[in-house]
Amino acid sequence: MQQWTCTTPGQMDLQEADMPQAKSGYSLLKVRAIGICGTDIHAFAGNQPFFLYPRILGHELGLEVVESDQFAIGEFVTLIPYFNCQSCEACKQGKPNCCENIQVFGVHADGGMREFILVEDRYILAAKGLSLEELALVEPFAIAAHGLRRGQIQAGDQVLVMGAGPIGLFTILIAKLKGAKVEVSELNADRLQFCAEQLGIPASTQTSYAKVIDATGNLAAIESGFARLAHGGQYILIGLQKQAIHFSHPEFHKREAMLMSSRNATIEDFEYVMDLFRQGKIRSEWFISHRFDWSAVGSEFPSIHDPARKIVKALITLKK
Ligand SMILES: [Zn+2]
Ligand SMILES: [Zn+2]
Repeated sequence: MQQWTCTTPGQMDLQEADMPQAKSGYSLLKVRAIGICGTDIHAFAGNQPFFLYPRILGHELGLEVVESDQFAIGEFVTLIPYFNCQSCEACKQGKPNCCENIQVFGVHADGGMREFILVEDRYILAAKGLSLEELALVEPFAIAAHGLRRGQIQAGDQVLVMGAGPIGLFTILIAKLKGAKVEVSELNADRLQFCAEQLGIPASTQTSYAKVIDATGNLAAIESGFARLAHGGQYILIGLQKQAIHFSHPEFHKREAMLMSSRNATIEDFEYVMDLFRQGKIRSEWFISHRFDWSAVGSEFPSIHDPARKIVKALITLKK
């Protein structure tokens, strides 16, 4: 079988590899659709912290079952790519998304940019009606859903989402589906236009919000968000960056504000998102702007971050 390996920053090599061997408790899956994520782009660019090379990227996957005791052959599935230890404090608390020993598929361990993968059955979710393209969008939507669940976003909440990359857009859409009053702050005019035209979401008009959600992962944006919090407000960080965050304690204190991070997602978030797809409340064609053939991975990756390409979400597709 073939696999694309990011051998070193800026270099993607098509390699020939042995097929994974089926074993009990695991399913052999054919990779059919791969969503390209900011993590993949950062890893390729060489600015993902603690990233080791060579690495097979890819963790947003639409998959087809080839061999399994648990799932039907030919059935479409996706996976929860956060491999966890089941024994640390977080795992015992039912929070495997922030397991102390987490191995994210495609980040800490080799991922899905290969024709076949072998995955432990407990991480696999049956499509039950979702298409391969929809399955490839489930993970980033689950990240958004998890952040909103962490922040207990409800109907009527005034929400500011900072950043309208894919995670920001998905956060905006799910917050809107929950009935929140959502506004967006974003520097890129094309993305702002997308929010207005495709999602009906205006650029920020208010000085403060009950809930501020960062989906930029940019230090300056994150630090600016504290001043946008209403008194009694809540700040949820979905985006991640490398530096220490500085903010005024008196300003934070007088608001009795709450600051929380949101890491990955849990099975509850995956199932919630998959139901939204089944109900037609999320449609993959709203967001998938570019599709690449498997053979084009090496030629497409070097320019995938280029804003001039106006990529909302790009997908690699593999034939049956
Ligand atoms: Zn991702
Ligand atoms: Zn654990």
